[in-house]
Amino acid sequence: MSVRVLKLKLRTVNRGKFARLTAMQREYAACAQFHLEGIERLQTTNATALHRELYVPAKERFTLPVVNLQRARDKAIETFRSYLARKAKGKRANVPQFGPGLPLGVGQRALAIVGRTLRLSTEKARDYLWLPIEVDDRHAPFVDAVAAGTLKYGASELHRRGKDWYLHLTVYEDVPNTVESGVVLGLDLGVANTAVMSGPGLVRFWSGQAVRHTRNRYSARRRSLQKAKLMGEVRRSKGKESRWMRNLNHQISCQILGEVAQQGAALAIEKLLGIRDRVKLTRKVNRMVHNWAFGELIALLHQKAPRYGVRIVEVDPRHTSQGCSKCGHTEKGNRLRQDRFKCKACGYAVHADLNAARNIANRGALMLGYTSSVTGALTVPGGVKSTSVSREFGDGQAMGVEAEGSSDQLKQSQVATSLSSW
Ligand SMILES: [Zn+2]
Repeated sequence: MSVRVLKLKLRTVNRGKFARLTAMQREYAACAQFHLEGIERLQTTNATALHRELYVPAKERFTLPVVNLQRARDKAIETFRSYLARKAKGKRANVPQFGPGLPLGVGQRALAIVGRTLRLSTEKARDYLWLPIEVDDRHAPFVDAVAAGTLKYGASELHRRGKDWYLHLTVYEDVPNTVESGVVLGLDLGVANTAVMSGPGLVRFWSGQAVRHTRNRYSARRRSLQKAKLMGEVRRSKGKESRWMRNLNHQISCQILGEVAQQGAALAIEKLLGIRDRVKLTRKVNRMVHNWAFGELIALLHQKAPRYGVRIVEVDPRHTSQGCSKCGHTEKGNRLRQDRFKCKACGYAVHADLNAARNIANRGALMLGYTSSVTGALTVPGGVKSTSVSREFGDGQAMGVEAEGSSDQLKQSQVATSLSSW
């Protein structure tokens, strides 16, 4: 089970609703402050003791749904306890105080997501505030799952910033353990191919050609805009490009995780650090592939993995492109060109990105304690030719699949040697 807080912006509310929300927030803050003072006076942070002394007066004094009143009490307890803990450690700590800006705490039963609208209970029974949520691509699956009742949520908060309100929705995700199949797929991110994924009997390429092409076009257009001193247009073009890239990263990450989930596998990726070291970026390539695009893809994979029930392991990225995924021999000369790998020791020749993806899969398998034949390192029949399929993505033909060899061809010793080589 993992807890996550989704920060959802509410669509701008009209004056009437704004006034009601602000009044609820003020009432909640006053109620939390009332409990803080009660804690000090009664010298206890025990919820039962506080309930006995404070529940009735609080209920008479504050017009809040009962669950929110309990939230206010719990908030006061949490805050006071952390104050006591700081003091006990000899740290500087002031007696806590709640101002009117305290985020509005909402008990689980006082909120519901209906469609893409927040239904907020008020102090009156069956009287609700309906607050539409601005849902972006990133949050849509979560919001829809909450609305459908498949994703559990708990007590949450409403934050005000200027005229805007944000729902900080707490959700609980079950993270099913799908790595029991013992399969680990390795994902290599790079320049020539945006992504290459490999595992037993599986190779998938996401070509980087379309990405390079489009991003070059954006960059060329911005240069001419810059010359014409159209800075507003330059900014707009940048925004457009990042939205385009983000959308693509969403697609790729969903395809990757969908595939991994289908295989019941875990996914091994390199720690972000190292992408720059591995490929010698010329200035041109550097401009073409800004790191943020990779960073974003990796962030999206992490973000979505729980929903797919996929476990991600991050492996050491050093020498994943120079080591032989078949025999483990590591030397610079193994990498012939950007896309060609040929092992100086055993003669194994393969697409360089595929070789890297297999090394990543092997490392992931070792990190998870697998040492058997179910990792990504496979012997290719014939041993020499890369049989990878490469297709453009972004036009629905996203992936090429090619089955290779059988997984039991791998000897345990091969995994062991690839471990000792880094
Ligand atoms: Zn080799």
